[in-house]
Amino acid sequence: MIDFYGRRLNTYKALLHMHCTTSDGKLAPEEVIRHYAEAGYDAVAFTDHHATNPVSTWDGLGMTLLSGMEMHPMGPRGISWHIVAVGLPEDYSEYDREAPAQDVIDRAVQAGAVCICAHPYWSGFTSAEIASLKNLSAIEVYNTATRYIGKAYNMQVWDELSDAGIVLPAVAVDDTHRPRDLFKGWTMIAAKDASPASLLKALKRGEFYATQGPEITRLSFKDDVFEADFSPCVEVIGMTNLSRGYMVTVPDQEGPGEPCRAITTAQIKVVRRATPAWLRLQLRDREGRYAWSAPIMVPAEGV
Ligand SMILES: [Zn+2]
Ligand SMILES: [Zn+2]
Repeated sequence: MIDFYGRRLNTYKALLHMHCTTSDGKLAPEEVIRHYAEAGYDAVAFTDHHATNPVSTWDGLGMTLLSGMEMHPMGPRGISWHIVAVGLPEDYSEYDREAPAQDVIDRAVQAGAVCICAHPYWSGFTSAEIASLKNLSAIEVYNTATRYIGKAYNMQVWDELSDAGIVLPAVAVDDTHRPRDLFKGWTMIAAKDASPASLLKALKRGEFYATQGPEITRLSFKDDVFEADFSPCVEVIGMTNLSRGYMVTVPDQEGPGEPCRAITTAQIKVVRRATPAWLRLQLRDREGRYAWSAPIMVPAEGV
């Protein structure tokens, strides 16, 4: 459960980006399902390269299986986009990798999917290039598969987009290709139930958070005060525009050797500025695992 800005919602642990033997994954669909079901996941989106899967004919072992695809239209500088569409019809036939990227995205959204910008750091895309795309519902802040060359984290490009006025929520994904990719980043979806329709609606509305471990149980923003409750974390920061931010706690905040205390709640008195600002919570636990809330907008002063 989560108190999501005043609404009590269930949370569903979801894998939103993976590959099986339908494309270049090493694991068969039933192996992927078994691994994630045994690890306590509630939902898995099958997102093979250029291909959907007949997920409705498969036994999800209690998990909701979502139909999707990783789409690769051509991007700037000859680099292919990696756009993960979740919620595509299983018999989706509108995908044309030769079409302009925006058309590929728009058609998928038209068909009911949410489109996620996958691993921009690994791909080599700048925030300005991502900003040229419309109709994206999220960006991957963390992608396990891309850690093999040290490009798993996308916080900077995410915040650059927000600074440029494109404020998107973020997901964490395994982008599972092989066993080493299992269970290192996931998305907690805040929804009424685990039906595909409810999960997709929550994804469209940005009602989720990304995590590698820390759990968030309350988010609140009222009367210019941002509050959150979460599992024990040693680094808690309210991230916002440009060089600003709200440090709640960081390890060694009084200098090296300071006892590293974990906290489970944060309260941030938000300062309004001349222009609207974005604000997101970034947590890190003792094991170094992050969690990231979706940015909310803080109105300008006097509004
Ligand atoms: Zn990819
Ligand atoms: Zn992928």
